[in-house]
Amino acid sequence: MTPKPRDPDCNSPFLEVPGFENICCCNCAFQVELFKHPWNQHELFKGSISESMKLYACLGLSHGDGKKQAIIFEKKHSVCEMHTAIIINN
Ligand SMILES: [Zn+2]
Repeated sequence: MTPKPRDPDCNSPFLEVPGFENICCCNCAFQVELFKHPWNQHELFKGSISESMKLYACLGLSHGDGKKQAIIFEKKHSVCEMHTAIIINN
C-alpha cells in the first residue's frame, strides 16, 4: 500500500517546491473528472457519458454544515491544503 504517484504528464506549479514532490490534485482522493450526459440541454454538458468535459471537481471542501458540495476546477494539476493521497495496493 503506497501513495499513488503523480500523473506522468503532471505539470503542477508546485512541482519544484520542497515537500510537494508527490502532492498534486492528480493523485488526490478528492478529485473527480466531470463527464457529459445525453439528457443535459446545455451544449457544454450534453453528450456521451464517456466524453470528458475537461473539467474537474474537488469533493474535499466543506463548510461543515452537512451540505454536500463540489468545487469545480479548470485545471487537473494543482494542490491545496485538503490534499489526501490515493493509496494503491501493490
Ligand atoms: Zn498533477
